[in-house]
Amino acid sequence: MRIIPCLLLLLAVSVFGQPPPATNDAPEGVRITPLARAFQPGEVVLVTLTAPRRVDRVGLRVFQQKLPLEPGLGEVPTNWWALVGIDLNTKPGGYLLRFELYAQDRIFARVDHRITIKKKNFPTRRLNLPEKFVTPPKASLARIKRESRLISGIFAEAGSERHWSGFFLRPVPGRANSSFGKRSILNGKPRSPHSGTDFRASRGTPVKSPNAGMTVLAQNLYYAGNTVILDHGQGLYSYFAHLDDFTVKKGDRVERGDLIGHVGSTGRVTGPHLHWTVRLRKARVDPLSLMEILARFESS
Ligand SMILES: [Zn+2]
Repeated sequence: MRIIPCLLLLLAVSVFGQPPPATNDAPEGVRITPLARAFQPGEVVLVTLTAPRRVDRVGLRVFQQKLPLEPGLGEVPTNWWALVGIDLNTKPGGYLLRFELYAQDRIFARVDHRITIKKKNFPTRRLNLPEKFVTPPKASLARIKRESRLISGIFAEAGSERHWSGFFLRPVPGRANSSFGKRSILNGKPRSPHSGTDFRASRGTPVKSPNAGMTVLAQNLYYAGNTVILDHGQGLYSYFAHLDDFTVKKGDRVERGDLIGHVGSTGRVTGPHLHWTVRLRKARVDPLSLMEILARFESS
């Protein structure tokens, strides 16, 4: 993991993201720096904490979640970090990052850091289609419900082991469009927003694993067609849909760059492309945000 050594350099040059306002004075010289492309719904935030003394463990509460920070490198850990996802539906406003710093299993400092989430206007399209394209047949309803429960059950798990490290690879060479978060109103009824990013690619294009992970699902789903879900660890998941085929099975471990399948147009889609959804502790975030924030560190 090369995130932490590069971090100070990044802070010094401040390549992206706005530094937090100076009003967030932390006790005992603890420094907290949340970094993101933007503090908006659908973005990934890399939160770092630097303490002036040895810390054994750091806990963070944010968005009704509790997560541990990961230690940086070195024998006396003073640098800590975590990835936080701002869910697609997060309301604009102020939110607190609440840190608890432990030494020898006792809390020795509590630090709050306020972030402000700004509004993001996702595009909305209104479509009127024949009802048969909008409403699934009755015979498929039980299957759709079962699959929806299966998927949300997977995303709800956050194992303690981290499989991923370093940067996230682009799974196909093609360009991504800006479809993340797009709202659709079909025949006057709002549908759930598009929670992934679509990449241009022709049928048969190899799809590569963006980072290391465990294959937790490889099967055909009603809406998503042939689907692979990779568990990158600690609540971070990649979900690839509409594949022509998949070349991994449940239980397989993959490394960054491993072939997991080929681009197709299976499931309810109009043409071949790669759909990639990223979930971070249930938050729906843009895969491009994850790729970008980690790539900056890797290249610095
Ligand atoms: Zn899609």
